[in-house]
Amino acid sequence: VFVAFEGGEGAGKSTQARRLQTWLEAEGYSVLLTHEPGDTEVGRELRRIVLDPQTGVISHRAEALMYAADKAEHVDRVVLPALTRGEVVVTDRYVDSTIAYQGAGRDLLDDDVERIARWATGDLRPHLTVLLDVAPEHGLTRFEERDRIEAESADFHERVRAMFLRLAEAQPDHYLVVDGRQTPEEIEEQVRERLRPLLVG
Ligand code: C5P
Repeated sequence: VFVAFEGGEGAGKSTQARRLQTWLEAEGYSVLLTHEPGDTEVGRELRRIVLDPQTGVISHRAEALMYAADKAEHVDRVVLPALTRGEVVVTDRYVDSTIAYQGAGRDLLDDDVERIARWATGDLRPHLTVLLDVAPEHGLTRFEERDRIEAESADFHERVRAMFLRLAEAQPDHYLVVDGRQTPEEIEEQVRERLRPLLVG
């Protein structure tokens, strides 16, 4: 079973991914908790390049391709091997983040970015994507890296949020949209309920 957490800055993805891992392990499942970008050797380099303020402005197409390269490594070396071993894979960000940030956020065509990201991942899709939805102004107050994040306009974060919601609405069977303003315990419970039937068998 493959589960992705998606959402904007400070939505609580990492917290919920960790909580889900803890619960699944207590239930007896082997779990691989991972994240994008940067959970492979090449990915860590790519993450440093795209997120280091020292890098300066990167062409948006180059940036999208680096995120795609990170995904290709991630799927081939981390996600697929774990799924093959029969583990539950929980990832903090996946393809939707790229469609939202590099597609809707930047000036690239969503369709192009989606096609590249699907190609990079061999079109491997999560059984469930949990979208932790928060308004950007709410998420940003919870975030430590404010300077870098706030370099993007409020409009950028609004476009990112709207794209996450659009992707979820297009495929409700594969998404759980959660109001990220709830307590971590409330959110965790909704994630468990939604995931339980997928774990049977
Ligand atoms: O999830 P995490 O906080 O590690 O992501 C780091 C940053 O990378 C985020 O703040 C987000 O702005 C950026 N990012 C991005 N495009 C992606 C994934 C992440 O711009 N596809």
